[in-house]
Amino acid sequence: MNHRSNLLLLFFLGLCLFQTACVAQTAKLEAPAREDREPEAATGVADNKLSSATEFMVSSANPYATWAGKRIIEQGGSAIDAAIAIQAMLTLVEPQSSGIGGGAFILYWDNQKQRLFTYDGRETAPAAADANMFEKDGNTMSWRDAVVGGNSVGVPGVLRAMEMAHQAHGKLNWSELFDDAIEQSTVGFEVSPRLARLLAIDIHPGLHAFVESASYFKYQDDFLKEGFVRQNKGLAKALTGIANEGADYFYTGELAQKISDTVRFASINPGSLSTKDLAQYQAVKRSPMCGFYRSYKVCGMAPPSSGGVSVMHILKGLERFDLSKYAPDSAEFVHLYSQASALAYADRAHFIADLAFLGISPVPLVNPRYMNERASLISMQKPWTKAKPGKPYSALSVGKDNAYELSNTSHISIVDKQGNAVSMTTSVEFMFGSGLMVDGFMLNNQLTDFSLDPDRDGVPVLNRVEANKRPRSSMSPTMVFDKDGNLKLIVGSPGGSRIISYVAQTIINVLDYGMDIQSAIEFPRITNRNDYTALEKGTSIANLESALIKKGHDVQVRDLNSGIHAIMIKDGKLYGGADPRREGVAAGR
Ligand code: GLU
Repeated sequence: MNHRSNLLLLFFLGLCLFQTACVAQTAKLEAPAREDREPEAATGVADNKLSSATEFMVSSANPYATWAGKRIIEQGGSAIDAAIAIQAMLTLVEPQSSGIGGGAFILYWDNQKQRLFTYDGRETAPAAADANMFEKDGNTMSWRDAVVGGNSVGVPGVLRAMEMAHQAHGKLNWSELFDDAIEQSTVGFEVSPRLARLLAIDIHPGLHAFVESASYFKYQDDFLKEGFVRQNKGLAKALTGIANEGADYFYTGELAQKISDTVRFASINPGSLSTKDLAQYQAVKRSPMCGFYRSYKVCGMAPPSSGGVSVMHILKGLERFDLSKYAPDSAEFVHLYSQASALAYADRAHFIADLAFLGISPVPLVNPRYMNERASLISMQKPWTKAKPGKPYSALSVGKDNAYELSNTSHISIVDKQGNAVSMTTSVEFMFGSGLMVDGFMLNNQLTDFSLDPDRDGVPVLNRVEANKRPRSSMSPTMVFDKDGNLKLIVGSPGGSRIISYVAQTIINVLDYGMDIQSAIEFPRITNRNDYTALEKGTSIANLESALIKKGHDVQVRDLNSGIHAIMIKDGKLYGGADPRREGVAAGR
């Protein structure tokens, strides 16, 4: 990296200084109950400022990555070019969240054509996978046991999706997009506070168990500390191959063989992923899912992502209420919001899966008449009650999904100089994925996003494992357009199944409460996944506990670690926001 680059990086790192007092739990993953393990990995709160610019804006989860994206745009690259450079860099600097061993959903707004394209790079189950693959000795494995090792690894999709989007919208050569990540892998990157913290709390048992991961993440028998400069020669080699030979370098040949061998011969839970599975993987260009919320058009990703359906479901639930009558941190707003959210999550638990694979249209799920029927169940007067799924498909009887997710993942928002935009959410699923590492990158555990039980009380679950199928995802990359069709908001978040709520609440904060994007991101969080109402600890919203209990809510006050990276466009200006709950930074010019 040259001198100018170093200065830039120091500047960005300076923006992201962490307060050491804000560290949360230190429990090991060995802790038994699922809910006791939440919230995991709150690692600090940064003091982020709203960034504004006139030419372009980039917001991502790590300063190195934002810097790489910014540089690509400065060289004349498009939003997708920048997203690829960012993803390559995140593979190195944020290995706990995303990388080339994982999957992603990409929304691309082509400003000249005035058209939105969406690309599905979700992992697929190997051809040899079946509905009972998470069964052991006649019992369904615990989620925690199922995560570690080869069996949970889906065929990674992010590189094929980026390649497909680049062929359609790229401006710079593919080979140039990896330069910064290759250089940084070669000279080393500074371990961030969050990465160091996740290693220190020993969040993933596989990092001890698998030799390549253990030697990469440790130095002299201890997990890497914040500020340690870690080189990653394996990743430099893999990225060089991908830069020179395209995504085929990953999906065919020597690297594909290595990935397959690592999965099949894993010392814990070996899996079935073959070189043929890798060679046959295909990204899918899907139609975006768009609907209207008040005068705005909100567009997201079709299933297997939950984004397009469930974010809209929450918004539509609230549309008939004049939210401006209630403060965004009032018991009234939370009461309404949590009912809308419960309805959305009840439907999601039954109907969101790889619907294209199953030959089911997602359209009935967001049919305006159906949405209004669901919304009519929401009331200010009635106490909070658990929502039941609706009947969007008259002929479909399905069981409730029991997939479980903890909070990780990464979101990238970009607007380039031509006004093209990317909203991309990308993930290896659990922190550090399956714990297996190949050539310096983590392999995902995305197959645990399937329902580990194939049926519920004898009724089949739509999101059951099937060969070559994509697991349901919470990832919700979203774009919002005003009534004249102008792009207004690019938004997305990590956060496991809470992603949907984090995105919906941020949209409401902007559209209904007129907040600037940084304030909308920072605003105290609420979630209700048709279970309990979670209020963000240490915020004004936590004071609502007793008022909400009186309204029938089961309340938990806890950390809610969203990681929203968003851009708002207003009066020709670009405003970038990054979630202070994680390490991201927005920057533009
Ligand atoms: N695996 C999840 C999904 O794709 C995301 C998990 C997370 O945010 O940590 O839906």
